[in-house]
Amino acid sequence: MLIQSDYHIHASFYRVKKAGAEPGPTAAEQLAAARVAGTELVGIVEHCNDAPHHPFHCLEELSAEYHSSGFPRENVFLGVEADLAEDGSDRCGPEGRAKLGLHYVIGSVHVSPAMIPDFSAYLEYEYTRIANALKNNANVEIIGHPFGEGIRWERAGIIPKWHWGLIPERYLSEILRLAKGSGKALEVNRCDFADGVYLDFLKEVKSGNILFTVGSDAHGTQAVGNAAVRTRALDALGFQENCHWRPKA
Ligand SMILES: [Zn+2]
Ligand SMILES: [Zn+2]
Repeated sequence: MLIQSDYHIHASFYRVKKAGAEPGPTAAEQLAAARVAGTELVGIVEHCNDAPHHPFHCLEELSAEYHSSGFPRENVFLGVEADLAEDGSDRCGPEGRAKLGLHYVIGSVHVSPAMIPDFSAYLEYEYTRIANALKNNANVEIIGHPFGEGIRWERAGIIPKWHWGLIPERYLSEILRLAKGSGKALEVNRCDFADGVYLDFLKEVKSGNILFTVGSDAHGTQAVGNAAVRTRALDALGFQENCHWRPKA
């Protein structure tokens, strides 16, 4: 069985909120929830991007909690989920990483139909950023939720139903090829095996000995348990520990 890990748990206490909004969990609260869910290797993150509610000082405050004297850091790691630019660079960069004392950087694409109404343009937008990060970005270890944004075009009514069969096959094959060569990990952030193309993609990750991570992408304490469900689903597909990414010590 795979060791249960989750490197994508948001300490969403550390973001700017509207007056009266829920404060969101701290790193300690998310760690406690991850332990209850049976997660052995825990990674705490927050967003690093240009959004006004994610200023860099929030990440500095999260880092201060993680590095404080009483925080239990055994098998607990600190990362960020940084937005990828078109050239594959990430919003955190090596300087931000050093300043925050991070163990790893997840590079993700966040985009909405309000920004890019055209669905094909969205697919190219996400593909370009992932491919360039895999090719050019030494600062990023993990590609967060590849094509995880596609569902938004369904919700916006632009496409009738989101599924991975809508992604050009060459995008998927190139991401697999580049991931293999880069030594970076692809995050498994959903386990909808009714989507046959997505299931085939996961099988190619496995058979190609490509590194992978499991991410709950939990923003509250309840969703942290998703890591257990996703890990057991990968067990059922035959994923092995030798390709299960870990932060460097
Ligand atoms: Zn994300
Ligand atoms: Zn996230």
